[in-house]
Amino acid sequence: MNPGRLVVFSAPSGAGKSSLISAVMPEIPRMRYSVSATTRKPRPGEIDGVHYFFLEREQFQAMIHAEEFAEWNEVHGNLYGTPRPFLDACTARGEHVVLDLDVFGKRNFDRLYPESLGILILPPSLAELEQRLRGRGTDSEEVIQVRLKNARSELAAAESGSFTYRLVNDDFATARAELLEILKKELLG
Ligand code: ADP
Ligand code: 5GP
Repeated sequence: MNPGRLVVFSAPSGAGKSSLISAVMPEIPRMRYSVSATTRKPRPGEIDGVHYFFLEREQFQAMIHAEEFAEWNEVHGNLYGTPRPFLDACTARGEHVVLDLDVFGKRNFDRLYPESLGILILPPSLAELEQRLRGRGTDSEEVIQVRLKNARSELAAAESGSFTYRLVNDDFATARAELLEILKKELLG
């Protein structure tokens, strides 16, 4: 049995990464989602243990000290981290794992797992990114402003990042089809 691959998705917030991940995951066999821990408060509809493990800051810090994360980072003022045991258990069983990391978290992750596949999702423009963040309707104006400000540094950092693929999410159906093609080629041979 071939070991599973780790597939890391990164994007500035609002580019459409979560939508694309949800749209392609059912099409790829043996693919699991790595549920991150975060100190961010749940958005309406988000379920603990499904979208994230929602933790208090003290709980998160205890996990850092216990070295339970493959990587962690502070993003938009909240802590986010990837529990490590799940990754190793899945790949050993031949399952592929999808991870959703910010571009700086991806850099740290590469130190432990240099063989991971990196896919950067880009918005067609910053103006469109802003529209999508507003259209999503899940974040306050203050949060949207922080995410837009961070988008610039994330895009700059992504330029020098080690992503295997870069995908512009302009028309959703086209981006979904391109992503499926990449995943089938890389994971299904
Ligand atoms: P991310 O996970 O990157 O923060 P989301 O997947 O939550 O982004 O998408 C942000 C918003 O943009 C959502 O309301 C989503 O429905 C919308 N969206 C995603 N892709 C597209 C697209 N190609 N065209 C227009 N709107 C999109
Ligand atoms: P959101 O709050 O919109 O769900 O996610 C905000 C940002 O945190 C996104 O850029 C997402 O990729 C990133 N993120 C989510 N989980 C993790 C994680 O486990 N580690 C790191 N480094 N970033 C994460």
